[in-house]
Amino acid sequence: MTYSAHDLAVILAASPLMLSISKPRPEQLRAAIAQQARNGGLDAALAICSYDMGRYPDAGRRRLAAARRLVAQLGTQYFQSAEEELDDPRALTVYQPFADLIAWADKRIENRTRRTHWRGSLLIHAGRQLDQSPIARELSAGRALPGVQGAIIATARVVGCHRAQQDTTGRWCCQPHGFPLFWHWELADICPLARPVPAIGERNLWKPKPQQLAAVRAVQAGA
Ligand SMILES: [Zn+2]
Repeated sequence: MTYSAHDLAVILAASPLMLSISKPRPEQLRAAIAQQARNGGLDAALAICSYDMGRYPDAGRRRLAAARRLVAQLGTQYFQSAEEELDDPRALTVYQPFADLIAWADKRIENRTRRTHWRGSLLIHAGRQLDQSPIARELSAGRALPGVQGAIIATARVVGCHRAQQDTTGRWCCQPHGFPLFWHWELADICPLARPVPAIGERNLWKPKPQQLAAVRAVQAGA
């Protein structure tokens, strides 16, 4: 589901409350969304909702690009807060050697038992545990990988997520990095950090602390 700039113009035009508020508070947004659900249908309301809550779910990138164009046309800062939130990354702890295979090699699929609706910036955190499974050894064989543990080592983006699937010949998708039966988180724009930023990891997606984020930005800026 994507929305053209024209669709968004229609949606926003039907919502004078939102256009009159440059940085709406959550309760104002909820009121606007409820109004929008009545005026423009639930899909339209959800599209607005997804920007405003910063959750940025499936199909978000193209919609956001359309929204940015629309913002330029309308001369409003309406989406500014949503864009700011997109720069608010999440982090994912990945055991070595898989974290290094993302940061320094060609792994663009992360295998998880749960799907994710997160789309946007992701910090790759190398966990303090080592995965010693045969597949881990096989995929890292012959590669000179730094092997740093307990640190944020790269930035990335989550651009999609799908369940592992087989083609008609029984071959599984995303070989060799995607594993059968898992959810495949699709990563892009991998950028290894010149210097690892020490951090204790967490389960699932986690929100980096302000000082960790500042440290990552300092490394990115060449400090
Ligand atoms: Zn796959």
